[in-house]
Amino acid sequence: MKIGIDIGGSHVATGLVDKNGELISKESRDINISNIKDEKRVESLLVEIIENEISMLLEKNDFTVGDISKIGIAVPGSPKNGKIRNLVNLHIKEFNLGEELNKKYKVNVKIKNDGKCAGLAEKKYGSLKKYKDCVFLCIGTGVGSAVFLNDDLLEPKQNPGFEFGHMVIDKEGRKCNCGKNGCFETYASMKRFKAEAINTFKMSNTTEAEEVQMYIRKNMDKKRVRDFVDEYLENVSIGLSNIINIFEPQAISFGGSFSYYCDIFLPILKEKLDKLKFNKDTKVDLTTAKLKNDAGIIGATEI
Ligand SMILES: [Zn+2]
Repeated sequence: MKIGIDIGGSHVATGLVDKNGELISKESRDINISNIKDEKRVESLLVEIIENEISMLLEKNDFTVGDISKIGIAVPGSPKNGKIRNLVNLHIKEFNLGEELNKKYKVNVKIKNDGKCAGLAEKKYGSLKKYKDCVFLCIGTGVGSAVFLNDDLLEPKQNPGFEFGHMVIDKEGRKCNCGKNGCFETYASMKRFKAEAINTFKMSNTTEAEEVQMYIRKNMDKKRVRDFVDEYLENVSIGLSNIINIFEPQAISFGGSFSYYCDIFLPILKEKLDKLKFNKDTKVDLTTAKLKNDAGIIGATEI
């Protein structure tokens, strides 16, 4: 039995995954660090939550620690050599989580960037199963990604790479957290989409993402809403066309909260991309991620 752990910006989800990639059982908990100033305390809280979730899963499913064959962790930032690094939302700069868990469970602990883990799960079990050359894009707060060529995940030696979110699409554009201007994610992220929608349609600042979605769905026949969506997808299509021109994927699968809009977005996006592709005969299927929030957990057990 494998354990997959997905560490997000504000929650930790842990699951039991069998040898067929089936998620048997899942526990998840919010991690609130707003009152914690000390980085070490955040690190120990993270370990505490993970150990707790594993204990609950084992107990609920009648397993013992000895039944765990492997632990895989999907994490944002740039993990390296068992260490999690640069977790902006949790204020963790570098922490050897792999070693911590290995001490307790005495099994191999593997850690990989969350976009790549989710991509691995979609490639093996989900929306990208039938494609050899394909790209997974998780568009949520930021942009996570995984690229496969001839069935293999592309992995640079130094850092996870494929930071499509920080590909510049307008050198005089919006300021990004990374320090540059005009990065793809400052236009494409769903965090930005929501903020712009609230601003454009004069909604209250506390409007939830679901309410924004409902508003857009209800008003897609109105010109101002259609124009808003069109402007957003215009920017998304510029970034996507760069990716298509470089990798020539047979398919791109979309995960993250972007996927909730795929029925509206993908037909419009397809039309825009047809005009922007360098090789007009390149055929790219645009698909929606299948495994949703479980992709990180399942993919983490595949690394
Ligand atoms: Zn950037």
